[in-house]
Amino acid sequence: MRSRQTVSNSANTICGIAHQISESAGITYLDDVQLSDGLLSGSIKTAAVVACSDMGAWVPFVCSSPNVQLFLFQNFGHHFDTAGVVETLVRARIENVVVYGHSDCEYTKFLAKSEQCLSTDKEERRRLYEGALQSDSEAVWKTVGQYNVLNELKKMLADPVVAPLTASGRLCIHGWFYDATIRQLEVFDPEQRAFMVVKK
Ligand SMILES: [Zn+2]
Repeated sequence: MRSRQTVSNSANTICGIAHQISESAGITYLDDVQLSDGLLSGSIKTAAVVACSDMGAWVPFVCSSPNVQLFLFQNFGHHFDTAGVVETLVRARIENVVVYGHSDCEYTKFLAKSEQCLSTDKEERRRLYEGALQSDSEAVWKTVGQYNVLNELKKMLADPVVAPLTASGRLCIHGWFYDATIRQLEVFDPEQRAFMVVKK
C-alpha cells in the first residue's frame, strides 16, 4: 500500500513541476535525431548538453560527430550553473541546450540519503527523496531523476543570465532522460507535459 501511495505521490509532484515549466515558451521538444540532423545540416549551429557525470564517457544518443559545434558538459547533478556552462551559452551563442538525466543514478541515491539528514529549502524534493528511499522502487527513482531534470530547467528559466535568452527566443531548452533498463531515450514534451519515449 505504502509503495503504491508513494508512486502516486511522486507522480503528482512531477506533474506539478511539468505543468509549471510547460507554460514557458523557452522549453520546447527536441529529440536526439532532430538535434543531430539539425547540427549536421547546419539548421542548428550550436548546441550544448549538460549530462550527469556517472553516465560515463559515452553519453548515449548525443551526436558524436567532430564536425559539429556541440558542447558536452558533465557534472554530478547535471547543473547548468557550474563550470562555465552559462558563460559558454552566452559566448558561443548556443541555440539549444539539453539537460540530460538518467536512470540508476548513483549520485541521486547518494543525494537522497544525505539530504534526508540535512534541512533543505526544497521541501518538495526532500519528500520525493524520502519516498524513493522508503519504497526503493525503480519507478519512483525514475520519477525522482525526471523531476531533477525538470527542476534544473525551472532554475534555468529563473536565472538572470539565461532567462533573457529564452525570453527573446535566442535559446531553447530541453529535458532528456535515458532509461538504461530499456535503453531508451525519453524527451520532455511541454505539450504533453510529460517525458515521451522516442520511438525508433
Ligand atoms: Zn547520474
